[in-house]
Amino acid sequence: MRLATTLEELRAWRREAPPTLGFVPTMGALHEGHLDLARFARSQNAAVVASVFVNPLQFGEGEDLARYPRDLAGDREKLAATGVDLLFAPSTEEIYPQGFSTAIDVGAIGDDFEGALRPGHFRGVATVVGKLLHVVAPQRLYVGQKDAQQSAVLRKLVRDLAYDCSVTIVPTVRETDGLAMSSRNRYLDERERRAAPSLHRMLRRFVELLKAGEPFEIARTAAAALLEAPGELDYLACVDAESFTPLAALRANCFVIAAARFGRTRLLDNLWFPQ
Ligand code: AMP
Repeated sequence: MRLATTLEELRAWRREAPPTLGFVPTMGALHEGHLDLARFARSQNAAVVASVFVNPLQFGEGEDLARYPRDLAGDREKLAATGVDLLFAPSTEEIYPQGFSTAIDVGAIGDDFEGALRPGHFRGVATVVGKLLHVVAPQRLYVGQKDAQQSAVLRKLVRDLAYDCSVTIVPTVRETDGLAMSSRNRYLDERERRAAPSLHRMLRRFVELLKAGEPFEIARTAAAALLEAPGELDYLACVDAESFTPLAALRANCFVIAAARFGRTRLLDNLWFPQ
C-alpha cells in the first residue's frame, strides 16, 4: 500500500490509477466499520483509496478535536491488510493552507438534528469531502449508514455539484451487544459502555411500537424510557432518508435516528426502512 501525504503525491498516483477507483474517507482510529467500507470498495473497484484526516472544520468549539483518537501506524496496517492501494494522510496545512476560505454549504438537509446540535458541522464535512473528491476523482464513494445524516449530506453534495461518482451507503457494523462501532466508543468508561447498547434497543423498541400501531408521541416516550443512565437523549426521530425532514410515522425510505450523550461522549445510531 502506498502512502501519500501531499495533494501533489496523490495527484501523481491518480494519473496512473486504474479505471475504476473506490474512495473511503475517514478520520482514522479505524475499526471494523471503517474496514467494511474498505472491503466493499475492494470488491467493486480495480483500486481503492482511503483517507485519514481529522478535519478541524467539522468540529465545533468545545468539541473533541484535540482529544480525538489518532493511530496512523495502526490504521496503516489495517488498511494494507484490507487491500487498500493508497492511503492519503495529509497534514491540516496541506488541506487548509494559510488563507483557505472556501466552504461548501449543502443547505437545509444539514440544518436539523446533528446540524442543529453541531452548528457548522456539515459545512465542514461537505467542504473537506468536496475537496478530497476533486483530487481523488473516484467513480465510487463509500460512506457508512451509521452517520445517516452525513451520508445524506454527501449524497446531496455529489448530486448538486455533479461529481461523476456514485455513493454507496454501507450498513452499520455493530459490537455483539448491538452498539454501533464508533471511534468515540473508546472514550466510554465502564458504566457508560454498559449503558450504551440501550441506544440501539431504544430504536428497535420505537419501531416495534410504531409497527404495532401506537401513536407516534406515545411510542417515542415509551421507547425513550429504555435509554439507560447515564445516557441523556438528544433526539429520537423519524426522517425522510433523502431530505432528512422529520416525519410523524414510519414510511418507505425513512430512517429512525437517535443521538444520546454518555458522559462527554455523543453516540449516534439509526435504523433504515427501505420500504
Ligand atoms: P469517521 O472516521 O467516523 O468519520 O467515519 C468514516 C466513515 O466510516 C463514515 O462514512 C462513517 O459513516 C463510516 N462508519 C463509521 N462507523 C461505522 C460503522 N459502525 N459501520 C459502518 N460504517 C461506519
